[in-house]
Amino acid sequence: MWAHQGAASAFTALSRRASTAGFDLRVASAFRGYTRQLDIVNAKWLGHRPVQDEKGVDLHRAALSDSDWLAAILRFSALPGTSRHHWGTDFDIWDRSAAPADYRPQLISSEYQPDGVFAEMSAWLDDQIAADNAEGFYKPYDVDRGGVAPEPWHISYRPVAQGYHQHLSLSHCLPLWRGHADPAGECHAPLQMVSVLEAQADAIFKRYVLMT
Ligand SMILES: [Zn+2]
Repeated sequence: MWAHQGAASAFTALSRRASTAGFDLRVASAFRGYTRQLDIVNAKWLGHRPVQDEKGVDLHRAALSDSDWLAAILRFSALPGTSRHHWGTDFDIWDRSAAPADYRPQLISSEYQPDGVFAEMSAWLDDQIAADNAEGFYKPYDVDRGGVAPEPWHISYRPVAQGYHQHLSLSHCLPLWRGHADPAGECHAPLQMVSVLEAQADAIFKRYVLMT
């Protein structure tokens, strides 16, 4: 896995402290590039990957309008170019010490809730964050703000991430979504739902990208 050097050092410090508190912090996901995120979102739009509701129940494409299908995807997946995982500053974490040896973290809310397998680690981390004592990390998706669903497993290294967040802009993303070359001259496939997105791009950008 890849990460920003500053975020990686801070995570090492955080996991040392977690270890003295009895937890074994592990990273399930760190850096993820544009193309990977594009593939995920396009596959969901086309129905090649499951799209689920809040309870983890599979949704059916034919039952939803284009707009509702897009909203269902954006609740759990970021548009390429807007994922915080692009920056190398954000990690999805779990507690190896709390789970059986063959356990694979699913990264679902119930694992991190009070009776969940990672509840103790999550509560410990929340205490550190509340005391501004988490090596610079915080949880950008701690509560439901009406856009992205809460992600109690997702932590962000604020000292670097906030700089990237300030540079997010729709005018940078739209040409990429249309399949035009990026500033380095590299071309990517267009977003499959770009026409649906363009019709409500400002509102979507505010709700799912800026509101964290
Ligand atoms: Zn994440």
